[in-house]
Amino acid sequence: AAKRLEGKTILITGASSGIGRSTAFEFARTCPNNLRLILTARRIEILEKIAVEIHTELGEGVKVFPVQLDVSKPDQVRGLVNALPEEWREIDILVNNAGLARGVSRAPNISEDDMTTMFATNVTGLINMTQAILPIFLERPDGGRGDIINIGSGAGREAYPGGGVYCATKAAVRSFSDSLRKELIATRIRVIEIDPGQVETEFSVIRYYGDKNKADAVYAGVQPLAAEDIAEIVVFTASRRENVVVADTLVYPSHQA
Ligand code: NDP
Repeated sequence: AAKRLEGKTILITGASSGIGRSTAFEFARTCPNNLRLILTARRIEILEKIAVEIHTELGEGVKVFPVQLDVSKPDQVRGLVNALPEEWREIDILVNNAGLARGVSRAPNISEDDMTTMFATNVTGLINMTQAILPIFLERPDGGRGDIINIGSGAGREAYPGGGVYCATKAAVRSFSDSLRKELIATRIRVIEIDPGQVETEFSVIRYYGDKNKADAVYAGVQPLAAEDIAEIVVFTASRRENVVVADTLVYPSHQA
């Protein structure tokens, strides 16, 4: 796996926490000698700490470039590649991970603000990111080369009451991944959809507007996945032989129905 990742430049959205943060570490630990990580999120100070942690643990073989980026702001996304130093622009792997749920509300009570935030981040943000990076992939020989790894959710396959908007955003991600993979079939660009079940991260705290007790109650009676469990799958998919695409994966805790 390490050999296939060597020399790659990997861009991760939502790298300041949970699955994105773990994915950064997992790539770095898998290929510690020759890798570039562009870590993006809104909380730049956390990204800078992660960069220091990676260098402290693994030395200078992994180069880390933290970038403040709000994926829900189309202008920021569009300006991203040009703002990168030249040697950081040859991105090989895009991990579209940034996302969130806000509120658990039945249809009559869904707030406009929550709805807009979820769609702007999970759907439009992911599509805008893909549009920003895809030209780099398409310029390469043989019709193009690169990996787009989209973090969807089990919620995009099976909705639950009170989660109508979040589930709809993740169903949209699935459809977009599926369509894009088919559009790019003649290239060496791989589109990979990974749909996690329950993972214990900041996700539930944000979903309940910071109410930690409500967030903890989500995991009562189940043993959720850790962010590392998904990170391992991300790195596994990215490090298959070039003609293999792990196109669509559901990753649940073994006790989740
Ligand atoms: P976390 O809340 O721990 O991490 C979410 C990350 O997304 C943070 O780094 C956050 O960074 C970033 N983010 C949020 N909004 C934006 C934005 N507008 N622009 C840029 N970055 C943003 O949650 P997870 O790690 O669990 O979530 C990661 C992905 O996994 C999400 O897409 C989520 O929907 C999905 N998922 C999670 C599951 C779970 O049970 N945890 C289950 C299934 C899917 P910052 O705030 O610094 O911008």
